[in-house]
Amino acid sequence: MPHITGHDRSQLLLLPESLDDYVGPENPVRFIEAFVDGLDLAAAGFARVEPKDTGRPSYLPGDLLKLYIYGYLNRIRSSRRLEAETHRNVEVIWLLRHLKPDFKTIADFRRDNRKAFRPVFRQFVLLCKQLDLFGRELLAVDGTRIKAVNNKDRNFTRASLAEFIKLADKKLDDYLQRLDQNDVAEQATGGSRVENLREKIAAVRERRDRCQKMLAELERTGEDQISLTDPDSRAMAAHTHVAVGYNVQVAVDTKHKLIVEQQVTSQVVDMGLLTETAEPAKEILGVDTIDVVADKGYFKIEDIEACEKAGMAPYVPRPQRGPSVRAGLFRKHEFEYDAETDSMICPAGQHLQPYTSSLMRGLKKINYANRAACRDCPLRSRCTDNQFRSVSRLENEAVLDRMAARLAQRPGILDQRRESVEHPFGTIKQWMYQGAFLMRRLEKVRAEFSLTALAYNIRRVLNLVHFDELMAAVTAMPG
Ligand code: SF4
Repeated sequence: MPHITGHDRSQLLLLPESLDDYVGPENPVRFIEAFVDGLDLAAAGFARVEPKDTGRPSYLPGDLLKLYIYGYLNRIRSSRRLEAETHRNVEVIWLLRHLKPDFKTIADFRRDNRKAFRPVFRQFVLLCKQLDLFGRELLAVDGTRIKAVNNKDRNFTRASLAEFIKLADKKLDDYLQRLDQNDVAEQATGGSRVENLREKIAAVRERRDRCQKMLAELERTGEDQISLTDPDSRAMAAHTHVAVGYNVQVAVDTKHKLIVEQQVTSQVVDMGLLTETAEPAKEILGVDTIDVVADKGYFKIEDIEACEKAGMAPYVPRPQRGPSVRAGLFRKHEFEYDAETDSMICPAGQHLQPYTSSLMRGLKKINYANRAACRDCPLRSRCTDNQFRSVSRLENEAVLDRMAARLAQRPGILDQRRESVEHPFGTIKQWMYQGAFLMRRLEKVRAEFSLTALAYNIRRVLNLVHFDELMAAVTAMPG
């Protein structure tokens, strides 16, 4: 059997008559076109929606937005690669009606309209709501680190700078000593070793001065670290290793694992970001109350209290930490608070009474103990290494008791959280190859992630909803 071969390139063929014939009726580019055409781009904040009377004509912002959405959906994010697609990719040629903006125009568009991508993301969330794709019962909040355009070697903490200055001083002492010793001895040999030492001293001094300046800058700003390539990025841990990046937060509706809210911050840890991420999601979903689940990295009493006050029911497991946990002694959750007697009931059934108090982050912290009961307690070796056990409780800790009771009723909710947030992060990093940002500075990175989250949601919806239904919804979408 002969192999399958193509046509002779010089042979005349009866090709489809129009470009439209090359793009199938359910091709996602048709959705991108309808979605962008239905947006109020001026309200979203895009520049040059209305053409200027003078100067060179510019591209319609909608056309460049279509190009970016197509690119992010198809793992093409760089402006040079997007430009290349406008020349060779029939879907892009269709979408842009043969327009071929150069890479600089494409890059400038993303940079100049960086604040406008978030409203576009939100508009798609509203479309998902219109399509009834949200369960509106449970939000899973989580964060991940996405690498910044900043090498680890270009990031310094106060500790690393202080350490470098200490080492540099030691090195300088050593070089200066050797210089003194060699100065006389080298007179006869032409002084090449002395010259060498002087160069080394100058180099160390220069590096030391740079570190000193960075340390002074950290003192001035009150920051803990400084990044030289992308000043807004921070060294942060992800699993077992540390890299310089941004903390990306998402609130995912668990029904179809769609992203309802997203934000990018320079904050190194997730603690304190629960309400900030979940509340806008609750608002856009238009519900009076909603459950919110997050991992123990979000456990902060002030944030959990704020979450409740905002009409949400948080589910955040208490992290097991502290000296008792490390020593393998009874943990705090094994002591139950009795509101009636304002005492803590210990595993031996004894009531510990308030005996001292202090302030923690502005909150009153009360310490409970019962020295007499501990003295003769048969469980003491499992409870404390001291004469008696003391357990502390914050004045507003009832909020944590309520949350613990909720968690005890729904143990499966933590697995649900993992499944829901692993899907978007896994898809974004593995399938969409977006484990690193291309741009520098927080505002631009936020624009990038808005496009990433939008592309994730679009791809998911294209798999969930019949194309005709989607097109009907997008046509009915209020601008
Ligand atoms: S040592 Fe004290 S606090 Fe601990 S179980 Fe015994 S009585 Fe209770």
